[in-house]
Amino acid sequence: MTSQCDFCSRPSPSARYHTHPFSLTTPDQVCGDTPVSNIDELSPVATENFHPTYGTGAIMSPEWLACDTCSQLIDARDLTGLLTHCLTQFQESGLLADPCRNTAMTAAYHQLFRAFFHHLRYREPWPPSP
Ligand SMILES: [Zn+2]
Repeated sequence: MTSQCDFCSRPSPSARYHTHPFSLTTPDQVCGDTPVSNIDELSPVATENFHPTYGTGAIMSPEWLACDTCSQLIDARDLTGLLTHCLTQFQESGLLADPCRNTAMTAAYHQLFRAFFHHLRYREPWPPSP
């Protein structure tokens, strides 16, 4: 069991979010009759619509742990704030020293968080009360 925030990697998450299972993929990786929900250039699809042969996109966990700061940003649907907070955390922990990698990671996390908000279902306290 992980004990860190799935967004910014800080310790001690305080909430768990459930999403519809989704993947980050492109339209050619799903079955021909699958409705792909487009969010601008992003095409997240539900996992059950993933093409069994060509579906090679990254399948995301439907459960996401979040720390206090991230859960507040998530509850406010503050995509930019969440992205800024996480990238600041990554930079402070030395993960984003290279500017090129920084740009690529920013774009990747922006897509990921947008898909997360799109598929978000509900939150619950973490750890669960006995
Ligand atoms: Zn966090």
